[in-house]
Amino acid sequence: VDPATRATTTDARYREIFGTTQEWTDYLQAVSVIHPDDQSAVLEAVAAATRLENPSPYFSEYRIIHPDGSQRWIMANGRTSFTGSGSERRAASFDGTVADITDRKQGEEERERLVAVLLEQDTQKNEFLATLAHELRNPLAPICNGLQLMRLTQGDADASERTRAMMERQVGQMVHLLDDLLDVSRISRGRINLRTERITLASAIAQAIEISRPVIDQGGHELVVDVPPNPIHVDGDPTRLAQIFSNLLNNAAKYTPRGGHIRLSLKRLGSDAVISVTDDGIGIPSDMLTKIFEMFTHVDRNLESSQSGLGIGLSIVRRLVELHGGSVEARSEGDGRGSEVVVRLPIDLAGVEPEPRDDATVARLSAIYRILVVDDNVDAAESLATVLSIMGHETRVAHDGLEALDVAATFRPTVMLLDIGLPTLDGVEVCRRIRQQAWGTDMVVIALTGWGQEADKRRTLDAGADAHLVKPVEAAALVQLLAECVMARREPIGGSSRRAIVSAQPCPPV
Ligand code: ADP
Repeated sequence: VDPATRATTTDARYREIFGTTQEWTDYLQAVSVIHPDDQSAVLEAVAAATRLENPSPYFSEYRIIHPDGSQRWIMANGRTSFTGSGSERRAASFDGTVADITDRKQGEEERERLVAVLLEQDTQKNEFLATLAHELRNPLAPICNGLQLMRLTQGDADASERTRAMMERQVGQMVHLLDDLLDVSRISRGRINLRTERITLASAIAQAIEISRPVIDQGGHELVVDVPPNPIHVDGDPTRLAQIFSNLLNNAAKYTPRGGHIRLSLKRLGSDAVISVTDDGIGIPSDMLTKIFEMFTHVDRNLESSQSGLGIGLSIVRRLVELHGGSVEARSEGDGRGSEVVVRLPIDLAGVEPEPRDDATVARLSAIYRILVVDDNVDAAESLATVLSIMGHETRVAHDGLEALDVAATFRPTVMLLDIGLPTLDGVEVCRRIRQQAWGTDMVVIALTGWGQEADKRRTLDAGADAHLVKPVEAAALVQLLAECVMARREPIGGSSRRAIVSAQPCPPV
């Protein structure tokens, strides 16, 4: 810079760095392209370097804005040459160099950002270790008490059975914690592998409900499950999907005051399945809605320790959902306004998807029935009843023919799912006797048979059954058949056509 005229003489590289093609006629033009926040520091450095007494070497780092709006970091060095002395002393020239240090600065900024992230994570990890120690101690105390109790109540079978059950629960709690911890470490090392298969989401949801049921019941909550009758398939790992949904249900139960309402719904939206778990609990502040999916993060609410957790469940959920090609988000209106966590998963569209039904059919399919499940295989009866009650139906079970008649007489089911080979009275006879009752004529009776028992089929239809299903029964297909049968009975289309629905195809197992 010529101090007399303030004009600059620069080389091509300088002009390239500053994004200009011409010399500045006044160095203040160069200052004008400096970021407004940095201009005064640069001018101060220039003033200090050009003053007649004790001039300092010129050094400055600043940002400039190019004509295209992009920003570069500059490092400038320089010094002033003076001539004369005393009152004749004046600046003869101001010479220096500039360098583009954008890359270095970006590296520094990135490093600072990473340091901040690491510090934050370090704090979270310390908090996590403290919480973990606490969480592991929680079940330990009752286990220690249990050991003592067992010593004291030796010989008292009832007392030791109660103690054993309690200890089992507490050990289960510890196992659960340790499983989560292992998952976290596998997740952070990217070592989780899915064992995927084509499965229905309803089955994963049913499994999740089974896992979470004790926590939900303990909280005295009401759980409503809204699952459409048409099966929605995904290419997923059944265990991991159940883990995702049960984590969400557990949170809903945990963060909702006693006697709350939890709802799990499954919908199809285009090529996605949308699973939503809502509660009317304590809610999530808006600034935490995304953070809660980070490892070791929980909302600081000074909760009782039993209600706060390790802060790893949702990070596991997010990772598992992402591994399934999906996404998850949390919604809440804020404190005390409940929460919703929504998981989206890509549907496995392989195979024939049923045509979407009109609203009226859907309404009929989602109607709630009283259903009596009769099967002498206790597990088969209980599990089918469980699936149906998860779908919202009111269910009862019976395990032999006479019991079936007794229960039917008081429960008056809309629908009876009737196994044929039964003790005390076989299914054919049960059906015949039901039809002899005034209350039994309108009941929908669906017979359940094994493969290829054509003769049984004929006999039960003759005895008054509406339809046949082949075991094992897929719940969704069953619900659809139920709706069709109930419709046929409620809107009779003529005497013989009542028995027309016998064509239910064998269904693949759930
Ligand atoms: P944990 O429940 O073990 O603390 P999570 O990762 O499952 O860990 O959840 C992180 C945090 O998100 C919880 O500590 C809680 O503060 C908040 N949170 C999760 N689900 C809910 C919910 N349904 N209602 C209110 N807060 C929730």
